[in-house]
Amino acid sequence: MTYRSGRHFLQLPGPTNTPDRVLRAMSRATIDHRGPDFKGLTGRLLEGMRGVFKTEHAVFIYPASGSGGWEVAIVNTLSAGDRVVAFEQGFFARSWAKVATRFGIDVHLLPWDARRGLTADAVTAALGEHGRETSVKAVFVVHNETSTGVTTDIEAIAAALRASGHGAMLFVDAVSSLAVTDLRHDEWGIDVSVSGSQKGLMLPPGLAVLAAGPRAMEAHRTATLPRSYWDWTEQLDFNGRGIFPYTPATNLLYGLEEALDMLREEGLDRVFARHDLFARATRAAVEAWGLDVFALDPAESSRAATAVLVPDGHDADVLRGEILDRYDMSLGTGLGDYKGRVFRIGHLGDLNALSLMGTLAGVEMGLRVAGVPHEPGGLDAAMDVLTE
Ligand SMILES: *Cc1c(COP(=O)(O)O)cnc(C)c1O
Repeated sequence: MTYRSGRHFLQLPGPTNTPDRVLRAMSRATIDHRGPDFKGLTGRLLEGMRGVFKTEHAVFIYPASGSGGWEVAIVNTLSAGDRVVAFEQGFFARSWAKVATRFGIDVHLLPWDARRGLTADAVTAALGEHGRETSVKAVFVVHNETSTGVTTDIEAIAAALRASGHGAMLFVDAVSSLAVTDLRHDEWGIDVSVSGSQKGLMLPPGLAVLAAGPRAMEAHRTATLPRSYWDWTEQLDFNGRGIFPYTPATNLLYGLEEALDMLREEGLDRVFARHDLFARATRAAVEAWGLDVFALDPAESSRAATAVLVPDGHDADVLRGEILDRYDMSLGTGLGDYKGRVFRIGHLGDLNALSLMGTLAGVEMGLRVAGVPHEPGGLDAAMDVLTE
C-alpha cells in the first residue's frame, strides 16, 4: 500500500466512519471479562441499548454481524414449520427470508415494488390470505432497506397489525435504521428488533444488538429450533450477573460505551434530524444532476443511504472505481439485481455538513471523469438544503 494523504472517505451505508473517540476507547487494554470492572460495563451497556431501542424489556448484545442477529431472532422464537411472511423489499429482506428458510421455517416471501416503502395494507392483506389455515407466526419487515435506500413506516405497520387482531409477531430489521431514524420498540409494539454495530452506532463491524418484547419472550419459552450460542435464556441469566456465557468482544464493548455516550451527548432527536437533513441534501444533489434516486417517494428516501441509478450504458461500479482511485472515497455497490446499475451514497453515522459536501463533491467529480452524463449544480442544490 502507498500512503494517501488526507482521510479516506468511507461513505458506504455501513460500515461507517468510526469516530476517533470510539477508536481510542477501543485501544484500551482488554480486561477480565468476569471481573468487577467488566460487570459494571455490562450493566451500563444494556441500559444504554435500552435507551437507543426505546424499550424497557430485554436487550441482547452478541459478538456477530447483523446477519447473526437475524439468526438470533429466528432460533429463539420459532419452530420448524412455523409460517412467516416477508416481502421483496430488497436484498436484505430476501437474505433474512433465506436464513429463515434454511431453518425449516415456512417463509412466504411476497412480491413488492422495491422502489416503495412497504405499506400497512399490504401486510394486513397478506395475513388475510396467507394466514387463514395456518396462523402466521411472524412478519419480517426491513425498516430501512439499505440496498434500495427505501424506508418503511414501521409505526403504521405495527398499528395495523394490532388493529387486525391477527396476533402475528412483528420482527424488524433495524440494522441501518437504529440511531439513524426514529425507532420505538415498545411504543410501536415491535416484538423483535435486530441491529448491528457498524452503521448508525458508529462502531466497527462485530456486534449484533437486539431488543425483544414480552410476546417474543413468551414465544421463546415454547420455540423448538435448536439453539445454543444464541440462547436468550442463558444470555439473560449471565447478563443479569454482569457477564456473558462466553468471552465477549471486550474492546468492541468499550467502543459501544463510547458511542452510546456520544449519542447521549448529541441527543437522539438531533441525531435523527441531522440524518434527515443530510438525506434531503443528498437527494437534492442527485436530482440536480438529473439522475434518478431509486426511492420513488422523497418521504420514503432513506436517511441512511441514497441509492442512485446510473443512466443505461454506464456501469455504476466503474464510476465507483474511478472515485476510489482518484478521490479515495468508497461508495456502496449495487446489491443483487442492481449490481452495476446502482451506486449508494452512505450518509449515516459520524459525519457533518462538510463531510457530506466532500462526499457529494467526490461523486460529482467522479461523474465528470467517468463520463456519466449529468447536469452541473448538484453541490449548490445540496448547499441550499444545508443552509436553509
Ligand atoms: C448491513 C445490513 C444487514 C446485514 O448486516 P451484516 O452486519 O452485514 O451482517 C442486514 N440488514 C440491513 C438492512 C443492513 O443494512
